[in-house]
Amino acid sequence: MPKPAQLLLQHQRLVDRERVLRDNIERIESALASDPEVVQLEEKVEAARGAQQAVAGRLHESDRAREDHRSRLRSREKELMSGRIRNPTELMQMSEEVKHMKARFVEEEDAELQLMEDVEIADDTMSAATAELEAARARAAAEAPGLRAELEAFRSELAEVESAKEQIWAEVPLAARTAYSRQRVQPAVAEVANNQCTACRVTVTSRGMQMLRQGEEIVHCENCGRILVVA
Ligand SMILES: [Zn+2]
Repeated sequence: MPKPAQLLLQHQRLVDRERVLRDNIERIESALASDPEVVQLEEKVEAARGAQQAVAGRLHESDRAREDHRSRLRSREKELMSGRIRNPTELMQMSEEVKHMKARFVEEEDAELQLMEDVEIADDTMSAATAELEAARARAAAEAPGLRAELEAFRSELAEVESAKEQIWAEVPLAARTAYSRQRVQPAVAEVANNQCTACRVTVTSRGMQMLRQGEEIVHCENCGRILVVA
C-alpha cells in the first residue's frame, strides 16, 4: 500500500503529464484547423493579386488615354495637311500643337513600357506566390495524417491519465488531500534526496526524516512548506 505522500506525488506527476498532453492536443488541433504557413502564404497571394490588378488597371487606363491622344493627333495632322487653314498664325499654332502632342506621345510610350514591365513583374510575383502556396498546401495535406495519428495517441493517453489520476485521488486519505489542496507553493510535493528537500535544497530535520520513514503523516518542508516524500 503506497504512503499518502507517495500517492500525492503520483497524482502530481499525472497532473503535469495531463498539462503537457492538453498543450500538445491544442497545438495539433490548431495546426490541423489552420496551418500557419498556409495562412501566411494565402495573405501573400492576396497581396500579390491586389498589386497585379492595380498595375493591370493602370496599364488599361494608359492604353485608353494613348488611344485617345493618338486619334486626336491624327485628326489634327489631317486638318493641318488638308489645306483648309490658310491663316498663317492659326497654322503656326496648330503645327506647334501637333509638335507638343507628338512629344507627349513619346513620353506616354515610355511610361507605357515601364507599366508593361511592372505588369510582368506583378505577374511573376503572383505566379511565385501561388506556387509557394500550393507547395505549402501540399505539405500540410501530407502532414495531416501523421498529425491526426499523433492527436489520437495523445487523446487516448489523456483519457488514461485522467482515469489514473482519479483512481489515485480516491486512494488519498482525507488529511493528505486537504494538505495537498491547501498547498500554495507549486509544485506542491517535493522529493527528499540525501536528507534534502529537492525543491529548495534545505536539509530535513532528523525528526522530519523519522516521520517520513514512518510515512503515515504528511510532513512539510520547514523551509518551503512543500509536502515531502522520500524518493
Ligand atoms: Zn523545501
